[in-house]
Amino acid sequence: MKNLVLGIDVGGTNVKLGIVDAKGKILARSAMPTKPYNRNKTLLIKAIFTQVRALFNNSKISLKQLTGIGIGLPGAVDPFKGLVIFLPNIPGWKNVPLRAIFEKEFRVPVLLENDVNMITLGEWKYGAGKGKNDLLCMTLGTGVGGGLILDGQLYRGASFVAGEIGHMPINENGPHCNCGGWGCFEQSVGNRQLLEKISRIFGSTTLTIPDVHSLALKGDQKALKFFKETATHIGNGLVGVVNLLNPPLIIIGGGVSNNHRFLFPTINQVIQKRAMKVQAKLVKIVHAKLGDDAGILGARVLLAEGLKKRS
Ligand SMILES: [Zn+2]
Repeated sequence: MKNLVLGIDVGGTNVKLGIVDAKGKILARSAMPTKPYNRNKTLLIKAIFTQVRALFNNSKISLKQLTGIGIGLPGAVDPFKGLVIFLPNIPGWKNVPLRAIFEKEFRVPVLLENDVNMITLGEWKYGAGKGKNDLLCMTLGTGVGGGLILDGQLYRGASFVAGEIGHMPINENGPHCNCGGWGCFEQSVGNRQLLEKISRIFGSTTLTIPDVHSLALKGDQKALKFFKETATHIGNGLVGVVNLLNPPLIIIGGGVSNNHRFLFPTINQVIQKRAMKVQAKLVKIVHAKLGDDAGILGARVLLAEGLKKRS
């Protein structure tokens, strides 16, 4: 056995790791909390080093079989310089040469990428996007993220932060957003906003989105209405993307997407009604297939694709 890739998915809450073989199978995995090591970046990096070695030891796989590492990070990354530019939810990370730090430790090629781009790469090659040359992958969670495959390649943008679909303005005057703008898409379909809405509708601050899903399954009218309105917001946000990029496929993942049976029909209807006819006719909305594994499998794709400049 050889040619193994290590995927590391760094999040604000957890760091997930997985060893991936040449066929895209995850042979071993582990996770560690981020917060205990949040005080400074050296602490977190050292903890990840320890976790990597433990993962290989515990699964009885030799580090000698490792041929590359792909690291997904929740923020702005310069994959070409191997720099973590800034992580909004993990303090102390500014212009960190993480690629060089990992290459020195493990002596294999290392590539960095934004976490949603990594998920997009994973879904593209191993999940819901197989065989497509163009797609949008959107993640619905606390944040609303997006990754783009255009002309058979990850589209990063001029400073590597393209795809921020959650920060498309959909209101001229809407609420202030963490990104510095206002009226962003995320402000109407992010987790926090959905929970606030649930508490307004049901008069309960403890009700979760899965609770509302259970109610909808029983035919509860308020729950069904909540999902219909949420889906309408999501659909409206996607209409602009459909018109602009003419994608054949939109993959929707993240926690909120688990309610797809109550969301996708309305999302589709809104797109069919509001988007331009040629684009609307083509586009398909599908649920992400890989769940939490997408980011780890994306590491394998990232290493295989390398850092091509767009032709
Ligand atoms: Zn924003």
